[in-house]
Amino acid sequence: MKYNIAVLDGDGIGPEICAGAIKVLQKVGQKFGHEFTFSHYPIGGCAIDLCGDPLPQETIDGCLASDSVLLGAVGGYKWDNMPVDKRPEKGLLRIRKELGLYSNIRPAKLWKALAKASPLKYELVKDGVEIIIVRELTGGIYFGERGTGTGEDGDYAWDTEKYSVKEIERITRIACELAVKRGKKLVSVDKANVLESSRLWRKTVHEYCAKNYPQIEVMDVLVDNMAMQIVKNPAQFDVVVTSNIFGDILSDEAAQVTGSIGMLASSSLGDTKRGLYEPIHGSAPDIAGKDIANPIATILAAAMMLRDSFDLVQEYAAIEIAVQKVLNEGWRTADIMEDGKKQVGCREMSRLIAEQI
Ligand code: NAD
Repeated sequence: MKYNIAVLDGDGIGPEICAGAIKVLQKVGQKFGHEFTFSHYPIGGCAIDLCGDPLPQETIDGCLASDSVLLGAVGGYKWDNMPVDKRPEKGLLRIRKELGLYSNIRPAKLWKALAKASPLKYELVKDGVEIIIVRELTGGIYFGERGTGTGEDGDYAWDTEKYSVKEIERITRIACELAVKRGKKLVSVDKANVLESSRLWRKTVHEYCAKNYPQIEVMDVLVDNMAMQIVKNPAQFDVVVTSNIFGDILSDEAAQVTGSIGMLASSSLGDTKRGLYEPIHGSAPDIAGKDIANPIATILAAAMMLRDSFDLVQEYAAIEIAVQKVLNEGWRTADIMEDGKKQVGCREMSRLIAEQI
């Protein structure tokens, strides 16, 4: 099969980590008989330097013409003082909108080999953890009506959490598609004991799953309990679906459990198979160009692309296994280095992983 991938390298370590992911995808292509082609387009600070816009039309057109999109990271000191709507990060928000991406999927995976990096007790995480949080990205309180005013008690401000059945159903579908490829279990997080919007959320998730994915077991967890359970027993969770605000908070909490930002990937999906796949970390300008960045988050983002955009489940697994082997052999980049392990740079780590495919 042929797949056309748009690569948005971005700024800082972006080009280095994308090069690492491309190396691994090329090896997957050779091994499994696929042809991946890569077209690079500018985004973020480098696009501002090039043409004054963090998301040039050429980049939007290139992404829309591709089968899927791989992104490095954007931003850096050089553009920190620009007006908000001209900042590199604006390019990111706009590309999600242009591609119609309304979900954000963040697997917080703690590899057994890195269990000691977790701030949690070793006994709780020694067998590894993988919580996949599917967050609704374009609705809820971050986009609801808001306002300020002055009343009897002085100044006040308000925001609204509002969800339609359609919005809840479409994010539930994304979570179910993942759950059927994994353990067929889905946790839905809400605050249905207090919020009307959460009661609709809960009812809709259950009705949608019962009708369309009867093989999936759905369990509800209140958001306050979820926040506790993530630090008490993170290994009990697999796929979790939740609203924009709850997902924002819980995905950062879950990421922290893994203790290593350079290892975590993320994707944004919408109604088509085309997604945007990226590491959760930023452009790390402090280490850019030194060949010391950890490419694993971006390599795992590329693996997610194979599974979720191209349905190449075996190829996805091949990358995960390769990463695991390299970690088990003791290879580490500087950010995850421990005593007694062998330190390598970004290029060499990527080569080692590609070699294991
Ligand atoms: P950051 O994630 O870039 O870096 C935080 C720390 O983690 C730094 O010490 C960095 O060296 C380290 N780090 C990050 N990724 C690493 C990797 N792969 N390997 C090894 N070490 C790594 O966050 P920041 O410093 O707050 O932001 C830097 C720039 O990135 C800012 O301009 C910010 O706006 C931007 N940013 C972009 C994105 C994105 O593109 N999605 C996300 C977050 C921040």
